[in-house]
Amino acid sequence: MSAQDMKKEIPYKIYISENDMPKAWYNLRADMKNKPAPLLNPETLQPMTYDDLRPVFCDELIKQELDDTTPYIEIPDEIRSFYKMYRPAPLVRAYCLEEKLQTPAKIYYKFEGNNTSGSHKLNSAIAQAYYAKKQGLDGVTTETGAGQWGTALSMACAYLGLDCRVYMVKVSYEQKPFRREVMRTYGAQVTPSPSETTEVGRAILAKHPGTGGSLGCAISEAVEAAGNLGNYRYVLGSVLNQVMLHQSIIGLETKIAMDQYGIKPDIIIGCAGGGSNLGGLIAPFMGEKLRGEADYRFIAVEPASCPSFTRGKFAYDYCDTGMICPLAKMHTLGSGFIPAPNHSGGLRYHGMNPILSQLYHEGYMEATTVKQTEVFEAAEYFARVEGILPAPESSHAIRVAMDEAIKCRETGEEKTILFGLTGTGYFDMVAYEKFNNGAMTDYIPGDEDLAVGFAGLPEVNL
Ligand SMILES: *Cc1c(COP(=O)(O)O)cnc(C)c1O
Repeated sequence: MSAQDMKKEIPYKIYISENDMPKAWYNLRADMKNKPAPLLNPETLQPMTYDDLRPVFCDELIKQELDDTTPYIEIPDEIRSFYKMYRPAPLVRAYCLEEKLQTPAKIYYKFEGNNTSGSHKLNSAIAQAYYAKKQGLDGVTTETGAGQWGTALSMACAYLGLDCRVYMVKVSYEQKPFRREVMRTYGAQVTPSPSETTEVGRAILAKHPGTGGSLGCAISEAVEAAGNLGNYRYVLGSVLNQVMLHQSIIGLETKIAMDQYGIKPDIIIGCAGGGSNLGGLIAPFMGEKLRGEADYRFIAVEPASCPSFTRGKFAYDYCDTGMICPLAKMHTLGSGFIPAPNHSGGLRYHGMNPILSQLYHEGYMEATTVKQTEVFEAAEYFARVEGILPAPESSHAIRVAMDEAIKCRETGEEKTILFGLTGTGYFDMVAYEKFNNGAMTDYIPGDEDLAVGFAGLPEVNL
């Protein structure tokens, strides 16, 4: 710790007090001049109305999904009480990392891995489960890829006494038995996807026997299952605007903590799968930028093997492989895109949240890609220096934060870098094992690979 920092008394970890915890989520759309494009009905290709969405989603969540104007949406007391079990999340000054990198940059990370489900996904899981319960539903269905969302939702549903059915991408189901068992321990029913339990699943199995599945396909199955079960609705852990709204808790807490110590980040970095943690972290800062009150550099980091922002098209696309979910206008690789099987770093979804897609389209944020071996190098470096074993997803952000700090070493600039450390990697040891054995490879899809996904984009003339 430098003498100057000692004087400013910036603690290693900043926890805001319970009284200072946000009482409302921040809806970034309210400050956007150009709103994200509306969701479209997959059959009529007309904008989805509240009534169109009611068979699939919970009523209150639809209102949040469609609300482009209310800047602050109150967090119900029950959700705030649950948040208090594992929040505030610490904002950590990475003193050890700075010293090891010999950088004049100041590095902060917001750590979301301090709950049993292991990631930020619990922030939205509890909100979605709460509104489902309040509506009197019997349960919810969902999909999970790497397993964090399913775990978070299982935990939230157990707390509220709701039934939880999880369609888990088959490769993960087989490679991550411990994730699966955590979900079952919390009382969820877990089915490998594609499965024989749905029409979509059976169709995909007939076409691609032996497939390891994909998120888009598991989504289709979960949506169909919710319809078949009756008093159930489907919930989703990323991509949707409501999820980004709930995740604004990350950025709001961070902003409060930084303001208390007079810290202003120059660069804000987050990994991007469907965009929820990144969107949540940057929300209040981006709000300031949109209102012309402050400026920041925002960097989305995605895997080179699933480059939705950097190589995707900004177009209407299906959110799922089965093409039964609404269409969203977003940066997408096409709903038929399935990342290479050697990709173990998470963040495998083909599309990106519509709010972030719109902002990226307008130049308010940057995006970059990293290869998975570079990501795991950074993960291991970080684990050895800062002690935390990071999730592979989070390590995309670590990689770029370290790269930016190294640039500062070269230029001598004392920039303040903030990144989102979204979770822990305890359940990702198969991927770490591959890396430690030197068996991890990088795969970057060629333009011809991406063309296959783009060919499946629907034609939408609005
Ligand atoms: C799901 C997940 C992500 C990516 O999802 P986003 O919606 O893009 O935030 C990142 N990190 C962890 C640990 C996750 O579980």
